[in-house]
Amino acid sequence: MSNIGFVGLGIMGGPMCRNLLKAGHRLVVYDIVPELVERVVAGGASAAASASAAAAVSDIVITMLPDGPEVETAVLGPGGVLEGARPGCTVIDMSSISPLVARKVGAACEARGVNFLDAPVSGGEPKAVDGTLAIMVGGSEEVFQKMQPVLASMGSSVTLVGAVGAGNVTKLANQIIVACNIAAMGEALVLATRAGLDPNAVFNAIKGGLAGSTVLNAKAPMVIGRNFKPGFRIRLHQKDLRNALLAAESLKVGLPLTSSVQQMLMALMNEGKGDLDHSAIVTFIEGMAGIEVRPPDA
Ligand code: NAD
Repeated sequence: MSNIGFVGLGIMGGPMCRNLLKAGHRLVVYDIVPELVERVVAGGASAAASASAAAAVSDIVITMLPDGPEVETAVLGPGGVLEGARPGCTVIDMSSISPLVARKVGAACEARGVNFLDAPVSGGEPKAVDGTLAIMVGGSEEVFQKMQPVLASMGSSVTLVGAVGAGNVTKLANQIIVACNIAAMGEALVLATRAGLDPNAVFNAIKGGLAGSTVLNAKAPMVIGRNFKPGFRIRLHQKDLRNALLAAESLKVGLPLTSSVQQMLMALMNEGKGDLDHSAIVTFIEGMAGIEVRPPDA
């Protein structure tokens, strides 16, 4: 069993900590929000006064933070993980951030003799609670093999995809597919509704064919039922597509679909919809048509 420091105890970090405790690891936790620390401490963890204090008593430090700037602050900043981490320990950043930032943080860790993996996740809160996240990992084979059992206490699929940064490139690929799928579903359901069809009938007719997908099955019922309670927030998906576009620019590739959907997400945030589920991308297309996707009798 390992001594693990955990920084970032939000929607994802909280349940991930519970699964690490369940697997028998000793946890020392930190978040800038004291109530979140208290909740995890009530489940059996100890509290640290800072990220560096958590790192000082740990062999492994996991971070689960909103985006790259928070990861840079919590790992590289004053009172951050690297101030406390001993040479030979391992930092695993499980946040979804720019691969460029992952590489920068990884290089800073390496310069201090600290191992680093970027290991973002897919699956959302339900899979964080069940311990069945899909975890995509960037780093060296040797460090990955050592950390595999710890990662397996939070996920059912743990895959090494390449060097540091590759985990986040893979996560961005995942986020592009999900966002463009939701937008395409929105256009399809708006068209069908305007044509006078019941969107439930259209969904049932196409879900078993080539257009069927996990995204369609999860999100079409939410849209038709007008339930936009998050799941995964518009503002986080906007951040992921922004990171995808920054990576694309540095690699000199065009991502026209990603760019369009990112603009839709930004417009929705300006309408005050940043905390709705990302299925609400559909409302942007509804706005252009002046209708809502609903069954005819609803
Ligand atoms: P969240 O906002 O609920 O949690 C982030 C936590 O980090 C907050 O509790 C915040 O107080 C804390 N924090 C911020 N700055 C800090 C600092 N400097 N030091 C210590 N703590 C700090 O976010 P979340 O939904 O848990 O997502 C975390 C990451 O996981 C994001 O990168 C997100 O894109 C990714 N993700 C989320 C989901 C999802 O469905 N929510 C799914 C897959 C991946």
